[in-house]
Amino acid sequence: MSESSSAVSLVPGAPEGGRRRLSVVIPAKDEREGLEALLAAVYAALGECGGLEHEVIVVDDGSRDGTFERLRELQPRHPGLRGVRLSRNFGKEAALLAGLRAATGDAVITMDADLQHPPAVIPEMVARWRAGAKVVHGVKSRPSGARRRDRFASSAFNRLMRYLAGIEMRRASDFTLLDRVAADVVVRELPERRRFYRALTRWVGFRQESVVFDVPPRERGSSAWSSARLMDLAATGIVSFTSLPLRLVTFLGLATLVFAVVLVADTLWSWFTGTAVSGYATVEVTLLFVGSAVMISLGILGEYVARIYDEVKARPGYVVEEELGGAPRPDSPSLPTPAQGG
Ligand code: UDP
Ligand code: MG
Repeated sequence: MSESSSAVSLVPGAPEGGRRRLSVVIPAKDEREGLEALLAAVYAALGECGGLEHEVIVVDDGSRDGTFERLRELQPRHPGLRGVRLSRNFGKEAALLAGLRAATGDAVITMDADLQHPPAVIPEMVARWRAGAKVVHGVKSRPSGARRRDRFASSAFNRLMRYLAGIEMRRASDFTLLDRVAADVVVRELPERRRFYRALTRWVGFRQESVVFDVPPRERGSSAWSSARLMDLAATGIVSFTSLPLRLVTFLGLATLVFAVVLVADTLWSWFTGTAVSGYATVEVTLLFVGSAVMISLGILGEYVARIYDEVKARPGYVVEEELGGAPRPDSPSLPTPAQGG
């Protein structure tokens, strides 16, 4: 934590002989009330990072409670505070991407605005980064999720991701530090529009480490995630990281085929032996079974097709309405810039 900045040369992307720079990206939807306390905690934590230069970018994801106006009021008191305002609510994944694109640091930390990602963990993340880690994951000490069914669904999802895509997502969060090299991959080299940030940060590779943190309950406001939205994110995670479900459909088809062959043999047998017309239940069961297998298969195909359609449309993932503070990155013209509103 109190490490001096003499290890500068360790980190690629650091300006020649200059101090290293840390960006903190915070997506915020309707977080006006908590903003001041959040910034106080974040700036206190940044003060313990051994003299890093820093910027804090709050991405207002279509708030309706005046989050951006509050940010504008708070800006003069917070050196390096910046704001990006999206033209409407595009969702946390889009807001994260907008913030990552705006970030100029040699490392970028992404965190929630509701203090459920305790800023006090930042110095430890930075220490790991200084020691050479390229990605530092914040891992929750306990599984989160207020609703029991969400916790259950999330553990099923984590298992699927582990077995199907080989990505360990247990207790993962979006509280993550990315070195510039990893951030550049996530932002520039992954053109997909439907994103699943916490899996992408694992997919990039490099030296990855984890820091465990406790999730305090949300103090203000309420979680903006409905179960439906969580399911959508989970589907994006699975569909964008593995095609195995499609292969499962094929296996399901093969299994049904074997079943059918057996039934045909049985039917023919009873026809030959003259004991036909006893199979009403068999027909009914077969019909229902095959019918639901076909429906499930179509559903799985549909998930992929829907996402292919999204990618083909190639719409920008968000629209920026307004920016507050900060100069654009020197090389930003080469970025795949999103459409600018206004
Ligand atoms: N958030 C956002 N856009 C949304 C929903 C949420 O930017 O559409 C932000 C929100 O302000 C917070 C973070 O994403 O900073 C996590 O949201 P929340 O606390 O509602 O989720 P949870 O903690 O339940 O995962
Ligand atoms: Mg939260």
